[in-house]
Amino acid sequence: MMNEAKKRAVVLLSGGMDSCVCAALAARDYAPAALHISYGQRTEDRERKSFLAICQRLDIQDKLLVRNEALRAIGGSALTDENIAVPASHAIGRDIPVTYVPFRNAHFLSVAVSWAEVLGADKILIGAVEQDSSGYPDCRPAYYEAFNRVIQAGTKEGTIEIVTPLIHLRKAEIVRLGLELGAPFDLTWSCYSRQDQACGVCDSCVLRLRAFAAAGTGDPIQYATVGGAV
Ligand SMILES: [Zn+2]
Repeated sequence: MMNEAKKRAVVLLSGGMDSCVCAALAARDYAPAALHISYGQRTEDRERKSFLAICQRLDIQDKLLVRNEALRAIGGSALTDENIAVPASHAIGRDIPVTYVPFRNAHFLSVAVSWAEVLGADKILIGAVEQDSSGYPDCRPAYYEAFNRVIQAGTKEGTIEIVTPLIHLRKAEIVRLGLELGAPFDLTWSCYSRQDQACGVCDSCVLRLRAFAAAGTGDPIQYATVGGAV
């Protein structure tokens, strides 16, 4: 009965810990539809597997999996270009790292807005995080405010809105929120470079390990290396 009254929302679900918490929020508050976009990133097969498993655990039936060919063809990122190595994490927050995928989130959000318009969903949830992040410019609040103006101007009804429930949270707070919501962290994948086991040394692994440590709990996934990472 409750579910019938819930409004529809699209949630962007990469399969990482932040998007997983976002999907758990969406499953609590909305009738969610989950969007996953592969873009030729190094770990795309593993991330897709996480997406499907998280949807199953959260009982999200409405799924859209699409592939963006442009981002890999363009390259310019360690995630999409085999010639640019994924660096070990040493200087989080200093510069925009080579793992930045040029204007990636705009591609993702555009697909989400198109789908929301067809579904009649008014909200799009994305797990962008500003603090404790790699410092990507498309994770800043001002970017989402501006994108919402683009949506207002460029859609039929102009009522669709991107919401960023995690953007001001510290990473440890996201872990705690996820635990409260029963977010399936065991099914998530954050590593930028490996698909067999999380490497434990890339930016994404290091931020994640620090978050679980700061939240005072263990990370349920396996790491190849954790020495010195936390
Ligand atoms: Zn890693």
